[in-house]
Amino acid sequence: PLILGIETSCDETGIGIVRGTQLLANEVASSMDLHVRFGGVIPEIAARAHLEAFTPTLRRALETAGVQLKDVDAIAVTAGPGLAGALMVGLSAAKGLALATGKPLYGINHLVAHVAVGLLDRADTTGPALAPNTAALLVSGGHTEILRVGSLTDDVQLLGSTIDDAAGEAYDKTARLLGLGYPGGPAIDRAARGGDPAAFRFPRGLTMPKFEGTAEAPGKHRHNWSFSGLKTAVARAAEQFQAQGLEIPVADIAASFQEAVVDVLTAKAVRACQEHRLTNLLLGGGVAANSRLRELLAQRCAQAGIELTVPPIPLCTDNGAMVAALGAQLVAAGVPASSLAIPADSSLPVHRISV
Ligand code: ATP
Ligand code: MG
Ligand code: FE
Repeated sequence: PLILGIETSCDETGIGIVRGTQLLANEVASSMDLHVRFGGVIPEIAARAHLEAFTPTLRRALETAGVQLKDVDAIAVTAGPGLAGALMVGLSAAKGLALATGKPLYGINHLVAHVAVGLLDRADTTGPALAPNTAALLVSGGHTEILRVGSLTDDVQLLGSTIDDAAGEAYDKTARLLGLGYPGGPAIDRAARGGDPAAFRFPRGLTMPKFEGTAEAPGKHRHNWSFSGLKTAVARAAEQFQAQGLEIPVADIAASFQEAVVDVLTAKAVRACQEHRLTNLLLGGGVAANSRLRELLAQRCAQAGIELTVPPIPLCTDNGAMVAALGAQLVAAGVPASSLAIPADSSLPVHRISV
C-alpha cells in the first residue's frame, strides 16, 4: 500500500511516504533552532511551528515521491505519546486530509513507529516480514524500553524500561551540564570522539545483585535501567575539577559518560533477549543514531548470536517515514482504520500500537 505518514509529536514536522516497506520520501522541518536558547523544547513554540511547516513539508514530500494525495491508500498520523499541543496539530491536519480525500485514517503509536522504521528498505534477506522471536530496543528522548515484538500490528509487550530518565534525556542533561548545548546527544557523540572512555568509571545503574537477581530468580529490576545516578556522578566529577580551579576535561567526561550509558544499555538488552529466547533485535529511537551504541550493540549481538537491525541514522530521530512505515504494516495486516474522532494521547503506552 501507498501510505502518507505525519509526525508532529515534538519539534520535528515530518512527512513521509512509503510503498509497503519501500521509502519514497521523508521530509523533515525542525523547529529546533527556535528552542536552542531555552535549552529544551517549548511546547507552544513547537505547536505553532508545526502549523507553519505542515503544508510546505507535505508539498515537498509529495513532489519527492512523485505521487499525488489522491494516489495514497491511507493516511497515518502520530496520535501519541508526545506534547499534546504538538500532536494536535498533526492529528487535526491528518483528519482534515482524510475527510477531504475520503482516505482512511490510522492514528498510530510514535514509539512503535520508531521500531517499525527498521523494516524500510532492508538490504538483508529477512525481507519485510518480522522474524519470529523479535525484540526491540527503543532508546529515545523520552523513552528507554526493551520490548518483545510478536507482531508490529497487534503484539508489542514491555519487558523492561528505565525507572527514571530516558537515555536521550541523560544525554541532553549531561550535555547541558558540560556546556555542550542542545540537543545533547549529537554534541556528546562528537565530543566523546576526542576523549578517553576509561578516564572515569561512571555508575551502571541497577546492575547490583539485589536489583538483578539471577536468570532463575530474576530481581525486580533485572531488565530495567536507571540513568539519574549517572547524571549526578558526572556533575560531581565536573565540580571536583572546578573546585580545584582546573579546567573540566570535557572530552574525557563525555566519552566516559557515553561508555557508561552504552555499556549498560547493550548489556541488559542482550541479556533480556537471551533470557526471553529472542534471536532478532530491532534498534530504534533518536539515541539509535549514537555511533558508540551502534558499534557496541553490533559487537555484543554478534557474540550472542542475535540478528541486529539498525535503521539508517537519518531515520532514527523523529520523522514521517517511520509513521508511514507502521501505517503500511497496519493496512497490510487488515487492521481497521481509526475513527475521525480519535484524541491525541500524550502518554499513550507502547502496547497500544494504533488507536
Ligand atoms: P520519544 O520518541 O521518546 O517521544 P523524542 O521523540 O523527543 O522522544 P527522539 O527524536 O526519538 O526523541 O530522539 C531525540 C533524542 O535522541 C534526544 O534526546 C537526542 O539527544 C538523542 N540523540 C540524537 N542523536 C544522538 C546521538 N548521536 N547520540 C546520542 N543521542 C542522540
Ligand atoms: Mg526532536
Ligand atoms: Fe521520538
